[in-house]
Amino acid sequence: MLKFSFSPWLRALLILGLATLGGYAYWAHSPLPERADIVPTQYLRLKRDFIEGARSQSGEINSFILNSTGPNGEQLTIDTLWIGEKTAEKIFLHISGTHGVEGYAGSAIQSALLQEKLVAPDNSAIVFLHALNPWGMAHKRRVNESNVDLNRNFIGDKSKFSGSPQGYRDAEWFLNPEGLPSRMDLFFPNAIFLIGRYGFATLKQAIAGGQYDFPHGIYYGGSRMESSNRFLKRFLLQNFSKVKTLIVVEVHTGLGEWGKDLLFWPLDAEHPKTLRLSKLIDEKLDSDDPRDGAGFKTPGDLQGEAPKLLPDTDIYWIVQEFGTYGPIATLRALINENAYQQSAERPDTSHWSKAELLEIFTPGNAEWQQMVLDRGIAIGRKVIKKLADPLWQGDPSPEG
Ligand SMILES: [Zn+2]
Repeated sequence: MLKFSFSPWLRALLILGLATLGGYAYWAHSPLPERADIVPTQYLRLKRDFIEGARSQSGEINSFILNSTGPNGEQLTIDTLWIGEKTAEKIFLHISGTHGVEGYAGSAIQSALLQEKLVAPDNSAIVFLHALNPWGMAHKRRVNESNVDLNRNFIGDKSKFSGSPQGYRDAEWFLNPEGLPSRMDLFFPNAIFLIGRYGFATLKQAIAGGQYDFPHGIYYGGSRMESSNRFLKRFLLQNFSKVKTLIVVEVHTGLGEWGKDLLFWPLDAEHPKTLRLSKLIDEKLDSDDPRDGAGFKTPGDLQGEAPKLLPDTDIYWIVQEFGTYGPIATLRALINENAYQQSAERPDTSHWSKAELLEIFTPGNAEWQQMVLDRGIAIGRKVIKKLADPLWQGDPSPEG
C-alpha cells in the first residue's frame, strides 16, 4: 500500500500556494468599482457635448467623416473648432482621442474649456481637434479600426512601416496569446520572468515603443498611414505651414502617478525652448526617456513627426498624460482586451476585458476624474492666457 507523507515545509508551501491561487481568483473576479460620470465614456454623448460647446463660441466647426462606423452603425467623425483669425501667426491647438479609450478625458476637458466664451488675442487662434480616433472611443479600444496605434503610425516614409524590437519578438507569445482570454491567466509569473530576463526599462521600451510585424498584436504601428492620421497630416499642412508659433496640448491617459499629469516634452531640460515653455506656463516638463520616468521613445508619434511636416513653424508640442494604474496593470489589460478582440466572432463592447481596459485608461473613480478635469482645464487656460506673450517667439531670451 502506498503512503504519502508530507514534510511540514511541503505542507506549508502547499497551503501558501493554494491561498495565493484563491486570493488571485478572488481578485481577478472581483467587480470593478462604480463609475462616476464627471468624465463620460459614451462617444456620441461626448461628441454632442463638444459640438454644443463649439456652437456656443464664435468659431468655425468642421467635421471629417470616417469610413468606419460605431458598434451600432453610428457615424464617426473627427470634429474641429477654429476660434480666431484663419491667418493667425500664433495658434493653440488642443487634441483629444489619439488613443480611443484614453480620449474621454481629453474630450471632457475640451467641453469644459468651451463652457466659457473663448477669445483669441489679435493675430492668434484657438483650435480644438475632437476625437482623432473616434472608432477607438466608440468601440472602447485604444487602437483604431485597423488595430493600429495612431501614435506609432504618423510616418511619412513608407519604408519605415516594418520591423519590431528584438524584445517584442522574444515576448510575442506573452503579448499576443491565441484564443479568448481568461481572468485566471499566467500574466504575473510570465511578467516576472520577462522582467527578470530583460530588465523593466528595456522591456517597456521594446513593447510600448511600437512594432510593425504583427498586425493583430498590441502596439502595432500599421503598414501605411491610417485615415485619421492622413486627415491630421492634411489639417496640419493646410492650416499651420505658414504659422509662426504652434502650441499643442495632446491629452493621453495611462502613464504616471494616479490622477497626476506629466507634461511630456521631447527636448532636454536645458534647451532654450524647454526653459522658455516652462517659464511661460510655469510648469515642470517631463522627459520621455525610458530610463528616467514613465515615458518611452516611439517612432511615428505625432509629437516627434509633426515638426518634420512643418519645418518653418516653431512648434511647442506637449503631451499631457494622466496617470492611472501603472504599467503592469495596463499591459495586462491591453493583452486581454486584444486577445478578446482578435478571437471573438463579434466583439462586444461590454465584455469584461473591455470594461477592464476602460477602467485602466479612464478610471471610474470620481476623485480621479475630477483631478484630471481640473488639471486639463488649468493647462488649457494657462496656454490661452499666455497666447499673446511675445516670449513664444524666443524674444526676449528665456534668461532675459
Ligand atoms: Zn496614449
